[in-house]
Amino acid sequence: MSTIARTMNQGLFPVRVDPLKSVEQEAEFSGSIAVSKLERLQDFLQDDSGEAQVEIQFGHDEQGTALLRGKCHAHVRMTCQRCMNPVEVALATDFELGIVFSDEQAKHLNKQYEPVIADSESLELLPVIEDELILSLPMYAYHEKCGDHDLVHTQEEPPVETEAPNNPFSVLEQLKK
Ligand SMILES: [Zn+2]
Repeated sequence: MSTIARTMNQGLFPVRVDPLKSVEQEAEFSGSIAVSKLERLQDFLQDDSGEAQVEIQFGHDEQGTALLRGKCHAHVRMTCQRCMNPVEVALATDFELGIVFSDEQAKHLNKQYEPVIADSESLELLPVIEDELILSLPMYAYHEKCGDHDLVHTQEEPPVETEAPNNPFSVLEQLKK
C-alpha cells in the first residue's frame, strides 16, 4: 500500500500526490506547510515566519468532475501600511478546484470551478496552496492602533491615499502571463 492510499496523513503536508489515485480513493490529507517554503507568498510578507495548516480532500461531483477541495489557514506577518512595522494577519481560505490534465480540459471545465492542471502521475500541491493563500491576502494590512501590535485591522481600501507597492492581485496577474 502506498503512502498516498492512506487517508488523513498527519504531520507535514505532502509535496505532491498521484492525482488519479487520490481522486479515485477520495483521499484526504492534512498537515502544515512552513511559510519559508512558499517563496511567492513571502513576497507579500514581512518575513517567512509562521506556517499554514492545510486540509484537502479529493473527490468528484455528480457530473464526474475531479475535484480538489480544501481549506487553509495561516498566521503571517505583513507590513503595516501606516507605520511599516510588522502586523500579524490571519489568513483563511476555502477552495474547490477542478482537476484537469490539459489546457483543453481546463477550457471545458464547469465555470464554477477554478482549474488546477495536473500531470497524470503527479500533482504538485504546494503551488496550489500557495496560490490560494496569495488570493486570500488582504489588499492592505495595518494595525488598528499603531504601537499596539496586538490589534490588527485589514480592509479593501488603503489607509492613506497611496498606491500599495505590493498589490497581490496585480502580481498574480503578472504571474499568469
Ligand atoms: Zn502600524
